[in-house]
Amino acid sequence: MKIHNVTLIPGDGIGPEVVHAARRVIDASGVKIAWEEAHAGAALFRQGVASGVPDDTIASISRTRVVLKGPLETPVGYGEKSANVTLRKLFETFANVRPVREFPGVKTPYSGRGIDLVVVRENVEDLYAGIEHMQTPGVAQCLKLISRKGCEKIARLGFEVARAEGRKTVHCATKANIMKFTEGFLKRTFEAVAAEYPDLTAQHIIVDNCAHQLVKKPEQFEVIITTNMNGDILSDLTSALVGGLGFAPSANLGNEVAIFEAVHGSAPKYAGKDVANPTAVLLSGVLMLRYLGELEAAARIENAVLVTLAEGRTVPRDVAGDERAAGTRAYTDAIIANLGRTVPGATARAVRPLIIPVVADAAPAAGDRRVAGVDVFVESTRSANDLGELLARAAGPAGFKLKMISNRGTQVYPAKGARTDCVDHWRCRFLAAAPGPDLPADAVSRLLQAVETAGLRWMHVEKLQEFEGKPAFTKAQGED
Ligand code: NAP
Repeated sequence: MKIHNVTLIPGDGIGPEVVHAARRVIDASGVKIAWEEAHAGAALFRQGVASGVPDDTIASISRTRVVLKGPLETPVGYGEKSANVTLRKLFETFANVRPVREFPGVKTPYSGRGIDLVVVRENVEDLYAGIEHMQTPGVAQCLKLISRKGCEKIARLGFEVARAEGRKTVHCATKANIMKFTEGFLKRTFEAVAAEYPDLTAQHIIVDNCAHQLVKKPEQFEVIITTNMNGDILSDLTSALVGGLGFAPSANLGNEVAIFEAVHGSAPKYAGKDVANPTAVLLSGVLMLRYLGELEAAARIENAVLVTLAEGRTVPRDVAGDERAAGTRAYTDAIIANLGRTVPGATARAVRPLIIPVVADAAPAAGDRRVAGVDVFVESTRSANDLGELLARAAGPAGFKLKMISNRGTQVYPAKGARTDCVDHWRCRFLAAAPGPDLPADAVSRLLQAVETAGLRWMHVEKLQEFEGKPAFTKAQGED
């Protein structure tokens, strides 16, 4: 029998209890795992490890390439980055696969409707790249960077998940109607990739309607591919449909490393109380066993969970309520005792091994390029009109023409009657008098010099590029 090496990260809060429970069940299933315990998260931050992930943990994962982890706490609103996000990004686990299904014995407003779907969330790009700046003391920026390659990887993986699980329909949920370049990139890539999966029905849906439909008629969905932030929110919603975060597993998948963890966090108020539901981490372990090719053991464990929940005698607090609740340990014992049993009408899904797509490196060809001008972001407390007149005068001698100024995304100069509540952060759009394939740095620097001479502070510059004759930038609200 093959022995699999797996890095085990207990994590913070309820993490050690639920991870220990999952380990006990996996070991009892007969699979041979050589666990390598490693640490990350709150204690490491406290010890001064800025990333929350020490070198020996990185070394262990690099060796084993498979991780079962508990939740890691993240400081909110200040300081260090999330150690979870660091792990996902360090090992390029580009997809976060989050399945949910109706469980027998777990009563929800949706019971009986047969919810069985999987959210396939892009896992390393988008706003979660965490590239943030305070651009003025009163205005913050977070860059939403989406690559064609990242979109292709997640789109292909979504279709592969559908094939491995025998699904028929794949949705792609984006906000492409508003963010045409970033969210639109996933929509366009998904539609292109869909042509290679004619056996599956591919359908785009606007993400807010997807949230609405998930609450209204969740059984219509099988696989939902989406960007990082959308996927984070949608997958918490989908976990609530089947009983809450205690039941929602996930797999972070990449071409080299896979990290399996519950969707939930460290639930600190339940830490050490033997009340946390270990199902989510245990089912993450089931996903891990499938990834390792241990399909039979995975099905045995999933079936034992289904039997235990269906019988309802020894189930955790979030299923039974405080009065009848079994503790984490007792529930785990019951699952172990039920290994080998199945419950009619609710069995583990039959799956084929998942193919994780490898997407070639080629960047899209640059083709025909032109730079029409530049957006300069300026800090000022002047009025829109004052600023416009000042910059219009300054631009000409520098070889540019001020086209417009927007504030919080809406054109405010030349004024068109918008009632924008302006803040001290202005996007000033200048068109080059002599546009060409590129805008030389000295031309931009002449413009910036002119902005400074006008007594203004600039903080960000963006070229207005055109690819193949089409603008590669959006207009402000109200801009012609
Ligand atoms: P959370 O830890 O997921 O807890 C939110 C609520 O979900 C809990 O209060 C509880 O609901 C329920 N819950 C979660 N896990 C449960 C379980 N195993 N059994 C029973 N109920 C469970 O979310 P949070 O409070 O927002 O986050 C706490 C910390 O975890 C933060 O530092 C956050 O950054 C971190 N976090 C880490 C990860 C990760 O490691 N991947 C993910 C998310 C959050 P009731 O109150 O209704 O009982």
